[in-house]
Amino acid sequence: MVSENTQRLTIGVDLGGTNLRVAAYTAETGVLESMVLRTRLEECPLTVVDDMCGAIQQLLDKHLDGRVLAGIGIGSPGPLELPAGRLHHPPNLPGWDGFGLLDAMQERLGRPVLLESDANVAVLAEYALGLGKELGVDSLCMLTLGTGVGNGIILDGKLWHGAAGMGGEAGHMTVLPDGPECGCGSHGCLEVCASATAVVKAAERLLADGKAPGLARLKEEKTRFTAQNLAEAARAGDPDAQQIYEETGRALGLCLAGLVNILNLPLYVVGGGVANSWDLLSPSLFKELESRSYVYALTAPDRAASHGMPGGGTRVLPARLGAEAGLLGACILPFYSTEREDVRAAVTAR
Ligand SMILES: [Zn+2]
Repeated sequence: MVSENTQRLTIGVDLGGTNLRVAAYTAETGVLESMVLRTRLEECPLTVVDDMCGAIQQLLDKHLDGRVLAGIGIGSPGPLELPAGRLHHPPNLPGWDGFGLLDAMQERLGRPVLLESDANVAVLAEYALGLGKELGVDSLCMLTLGTGVGNGIILDGKLWHGAAGMGGEAGHMTVLPDGPECGCGSHGCLEVCASATAVVKAAERLLADGKAPGLARLKEEKTRFTAQNLAEAARAGDPDAQQIYEETGRALGLCLAGLVNILNLPLYVVGGGVANSWDLLSPSLFKELESRSYVYALTAPDRAASHGMPGGGTRVLPARLGAEAGLLGACILPFYSTEREDVRAAVTAR
């Protein structure tokens, strides 16, 4: 019999296009141990599944003793069809189109597995352990600015999946109708205007046009652009790098204006590596948001209509959990699946 004091163990997997991270977790201690493996995309998907299952089994062998397994949670790049757990043309997992990840994992492990998109597990972590918990709000929307732009939405404590599991794709909201081509087939999506990839490509376009002498020197020095070294250049005063981040902020402000007008949630979180440049992109973000969303203009934290809103008005903030959000979210997914509204209580140490 399981006593009341028996700790419940979970295993979380953050499957990324470059690395996969696997962790053992309890609510009492947090992450007990985590492992990082390279995602062997040059092999077939089943090899990567074997790598994940091997790491999961190692952590179970080491940490399950005296504990009960509450579940195994996985955050995967999308688009992900749920509840089938099948991937559809995932841009960050080439060759995985149509792959039934959920079935493959369950078959190999002989145990049930919980699967969500990486953006959904990240928003779950911010909800239960990060800003959502801090502000005491039950609904939030998160944009994750990384290689692409992920989006997760929690409404009244529940992940919003839509009818086929493909809800929350604000990364493909058009913010620049004639903008750069996007992997989804459209043009000017948020993903091609505000991801880390988009920041780098914007700098490369300026160079190709023979503009931006400061950025030409930067590229010579660093051999390649990253969103981070462009942010450093902007902070050091390079006007072209500053302009790139200003436009990134404007694109985000446009997208957020649409989301705020539609959803009127108390919290919007911006995460992923590009959010580390909040100082550079937030002025143009808020300017755009303020002018394009009358809901925001009425409900920003210091406005009259924000009184009585949970969390004290419409908050737009950089993520609290940083790069850990995806892995933590996968770790707490089993608690969410069993306790739903009470996932926060379940992951708060007794
Ligand atoms: Zn798109």
